Amino acid sequence: MNCPICNRPLKSKKSIVRGIVPVCERKLEKLKDNADEDQLKMELKNNAC
Ligand SMILES: [Zn+2]
Repeated sequence: MNCPICNRPLKSKKSIVRGIVPVCERKLEKLKDNADEDQLKMELKNNAC
């Protein structure tokens, strides 16, 4: 199973449960207020975590 945003493998149990790596999770939290989910994923892909 990989992160849907950066395609990194989800290694920790926490990451697997959330379906996202911690790096992307933090980015999502930062961006959450300003963008909807689709915009968010595009921005994260551009940032290439
Ligand atoms: Zn990711």
